Amino acid sequence: MPVLVMKFGGTSVATLDRIKRAAKRVGVEVAKGYDVIVIVSAMSGETNKLVGFVGETSPMYDAREYDAVVSSGENVTAGLMALTLQEMNVPARSWQGWQVPVRTTDAHSNARIEEIPTDNITAKFGEGMRVAVVAGFQGVSDEGRITTLGRGGSDTTAVAFAAAFEAERCDIYTDVDGVYTTDPRVTDKARKLDKIAFEEMLELASLGAKVLQTRSVELAMRYKVRLRVLSSFEEQSDEAGTLVCAEEEIMESNVVAGVAFSREEAKMTLISVADRPGIAASIFGPLADAGVNVDMIVQNISEEGRTDMTFSCPIDQVARAEKAMADAKAAGDINFHDLLADQEVAKVSIVGIGMRSHAGIAAKMFKTLQDEGVNIKVIATSEIKVSVLIDRKYMELAVQALHDAFGLEKTT
Ligand code: ADP
Ligand code: ASP
Ligand code: MG
Repeated sequence: MPVLVMKFGGTSVATLDRIKRAAKRVGVEVAKGYDVIVIVSAMSGETNKLVGFVGETSPMYDAREYDAVVSSGENVTAGLMALTLQEMNVPARSWQGWQVPVRTTDAHSNARIEEIPTDNITAKFGEGMRVAVVAGFQGVSDEGRITTLGRGGSDTTAVAFAAAFEAERCDIYTDVDGVYTTDPRVTDKARKLDKIAFEEMLELASLGAKVLQTRSVELAMRYKVRLRVLSSFEEQSDEAGTLVCAEEEIMESNVVAGVAFSREEAKMTLISVADRPGIAASIFGPLADAGVNVDMIVQNISEEGRTDMTFSCPIDQVARAEKAMADAKAAGDINFHDLLADQEVAKVSIVGIGMRSHAGIAAKMFKTLQDEGVNIKVIATSEIKVSVLIDRKYMELAVQALHDAFGLEKTT
């Protein structure tokens, strides 16, 4: 029988009633003849609570134990979903990551899925089980320890299962009815897209649009998974939501597809480093080794052989970055006068594959921000995106202004 993957996020399984509603949706697909793999998140708020417990117990926690604790939220919803389906006379069974097993790297708290053997679940489908309810977000390392896939990782579990089982579709049920031109929480002018290209979704996700975890889009693109985002709160047709698909499937689109933002950014500046060959390597090497995800980089013009080097990174990695730089300085690998951390910044980005063939998009973005009196601190571009770092207090204003300027608003 054809396989369908259906993923329900935290808000979609936040209460027993919502689990029931989700189970009914699953029942509809089972009745159509699909064998269904349901991926569930923890009830909303649950993972945050568990992460909080870990941090309070041990600020410099052992990531293996972090995973042992934070993976548990999904176990609860998987069992409850299986029970709910059984109550509806749908033959269902829950699966924790290690039971499948979802094999991952041993990068605890941020592991990557390496392999999902299909034999165990396929055998159970053969015996009459119609729904496998799999706990999202978790896997097992070679060492046999539980791992987790990074926040929002259930999306990635879902796409990885869809790829492994060659599912007809991977439906991501969430609290919005699709992918919008920007987060609908920031402007009510945001417009739902019927389709979005993998490349655009990948950029939007990696630049902060948390509707899909970045890695899930990467996998969907690589394995050509038909990925759909839709609401678990509304009655759904087969065309509902947003289809994330190949560029060729989209007939017409705006030059700019969407605006993304990330609140949790920091701008770090190394003051007065020696401008010599190899200096970038001796700064960014240790940062990478320390697990700091550097995004934007600017090197100032040098004066008398010394220069300032600015980079951005997630705000929760500032302490790690500071330590890595202090250690490199102590070891004599680099020499700098000071390291300044500006933790009041945000990143705002515009994304669109149309930018490949249209000039002047970046200039229009900068002019729009200028008209709003928003100062740009750092700029980064790629073929299909332009990102700027600005003061965090102007973030919403900037998103709304750019959304207007590029004509993304509702067409009513
Ligand atoms: P789930 O718990 O179902 O995984 P998430 O909270 O992770 O849900 O993701 C859904 C949220 O993503 C929405 O509530 C919305 O606020 C946010 N979001 C950010 N950018 C976008 C966008 N471009 N389109 C739709 N939703 C977005
Ligand atoms: N429960 C996990 C989180 O909140 C994974 C997920 O929901 O995708 O990050
Ligand atoms: Mg999510």
